[in-house]
Amino acid sequence: MLNLKNFINYVEKRNPNESEFLQAVTEVVEDIIPFLNENYPEYETLKILERLAEPERVVSFRVAWLDDSNTVQVNRGYRVQMNSAIGPYKGGLRFAPDVNLSILKFLAFEQVFKNALTSLPIGGGKGGSDFDPKGKSDNEIMRFCQSFMTELYRHIGAETDVPAGDIGVGTREIGFLFGQYKRIQNNFTGVLTGKGVNWGGSYIRPEATGYGLLYFVACIYDYIDQNLEGKTVCISGAGNVAFYAAEKAIALGAKVITLSNSSGTLYDEDGFTHEKLTYIATLGRNIDKFTEKYKSSSFHAGEKPWQFKCDIALPCATQNELNGDDAKKLIENGCKCVAEGANMPSTAEAITVFHAAKVFFAPGKAANAGGVAVSGLEMSQNSIGQQWTSAKVDTRLKAIMENIHKTCLRYGKEESGYINYLKGANIGGFVKVAEAMKSQGIV
Ligand code: NDP
Repeated sequence: MLNLKNFINYVEKRNPNESEFLQAVTEVVEDIIPFLNENYPEYETLKILERLAEPERVVSFRVAWLDDSNTVQVNRGYRVQMNSAIGPYKGGLRFAPDVNLSILKFLAFEQVFKNALTSLPIGGGKGGSDFDPKGKSDNEIMRFCQSFMTELYRHIGAETDVPAGDIGVGTREIGFLFGQYKRIQNNFTGVLTGKGVNWGGSYIRPEATGYGLLYFVACIYDYIDQNLEGKTVCISGAGNVAFYAAEKAIALGAKVITLSNSSGTLYDEDGFTHEKLTYIATLGRNIDKFTEKYKSSSFHAGEKPWQFKCDIALPCATQNELNGDDAKKLIENGCKCVAEGANMPSTAEAITVFHAAKVFFAPGKAANAGGVAVSGLEMSQNSIGQQWTSAKVDTRLKAIMENIHKTCLRYGKEESGYINYLKGANIGGFVKVAEAMKSQGIV
């Protein structure tokens, strides 16, 4: 029988000082080990879990580039190719100063389960660099991306590993990366997703994670015979995921009262509207300036959104942004549902608080899978040389999110009737990947 404590000790010993990776593995194996001991005891001898926790390949490389003052800058690039049992590695590239191997391994590990949940044939990976795009000129971003791809190109390919964007990597960066790949390989191929719609990208890709998150939340409320009409929503972040989550929440009749970024939280007691969101998009990172135009709003420097009273909380900024105290505050204020737009935004302590209070807690690997799902659809469109309409992609996105919700119900429903979405997502993703690994032998 596999023992949880022994397994966590084993992972900790092999990956010293990688706290985020250990946190992600622990969160998954807490659900999987009891399930596996009961249903698949043969997986212990096959060392399926040990193999899942070991990346198939990790590449680390130097990225040297010239800034606008002709000074040489040196960053570190990475690609973690975690698991390819069900398809080519797939997962975003993150450019942010705090990027390190522990963060990328946690993201790649989560990605394996998330991608399996989408039902699409995609394995899991993640990559990026400690490069900080903030304050850089377009030319600096381009030179960095070109240097980054000059090494990365040899490790990726449309049938091998298909990176996408993440924090700090949007359509502009994907464009520079794609241009360099094409130049080196002389090959126009679907090697990256998140491309512009007029050069191989999919409609709805920028919107997909935020929209998918709300489709998932709508499934949760549908399950309890309710809808989002009139529900109050707190969102953190003011980037890609947060923005489209807010847009879809408003479209579904909810009232969104916060957005945030690393400088603080913007609160609007009247709720944001489509017009207000359009205005925020013009402010860049200066979201505090919104208060000059809209008197119903206030800016709370250095504060998080979780102090405000809401029915639904959607953390959409970054990992570990919502801790145990934040979780308690949300519950005291009557919050009934937390769905993660970001990857692992809730700490282990916060998740314990949510489960104890029987709040619906939808983990990122289920709730934010819409982004990678539409990336998977972009790969399909590229491989058959077609571009589907927005309506078609949106319909497929919605169906995928509904399907993930069903998987969570199947594996996460407890005797009391409470749905443990985390357990459902962990087991649902695991079963698919583990069965493929078993079929493919000891590799
Ligand atoms: P963006 O870079 O577009 O936006 C990130 C937002 O989060 C920014 O507003 C940023 O503010 C804010 N933020 C970052 N760090 C902090 C912090 N420590 N405290 C408060 N706010 C912070 O990224 P995305 O929206 O694409 O990604 C957000 C999250 O969603 C990440 O966890 C990502 O991995 C996850 N995700 C993204 C997907 C996608 O399709 N884009 C798919 C699935 C998951 P500032 O500008 O001030 O730094």
